[in-house]
Formats: sequence, C-alpha cells, structure tokens
Amino acid sequence: MSALAEVLSTTSTSHSPRGSDLPTCPVCADSMVAAEASAYLADNVVSYLWTCDTCGYGFVTKHSFKRLSCN
Ligand SMILES: [Zn+2]
Repeated sequence: MSALAEVLSTTSTSHSPRGSDLPTCPVCADSMVAAEASAYLADNVVSYLWTCDTCGYGFVTKHSFKRLSCN
C-alpha cells in the first residue's frame, strides 16, 4: 500500500509533540517507533519512511541536519 504514502515536509525543528523527534501518525495520531527506511537526499537532508503499526498508514518525513561543528 505504498500508494498511500505522502510527503510531509517537516524540515528543521518544528513543534515536536512530546519532546521527541519521532513523528506521529497523521491518521490515528499513534507515535512512530522506528523508521522502515531512510534515504540520503542531499547535503544534510535525510528522508525517512514511516509505516504506522496501528492503521498501516505510510508517510515520509524529511530532516535537515546542521553541520556538526567540533571546535
Ligand atoms: Zn496510524
């Protein structure tokens, strides 16, 4: 059922629900525990594929990471 997948643009640090980086299902609001897959898109940008165990809804999130400064 990959046709249900949508791309949610959640770049940068938006309001995280419960102080966690893990997203919640947009359908049943259940919290995701682990991404099914990840893809490296560009410099500092990674997308994750999530599938809800409760309702089976699949979606993709994108995350941009700041460069690590090890001064
Ligand atoms: Zn769900």
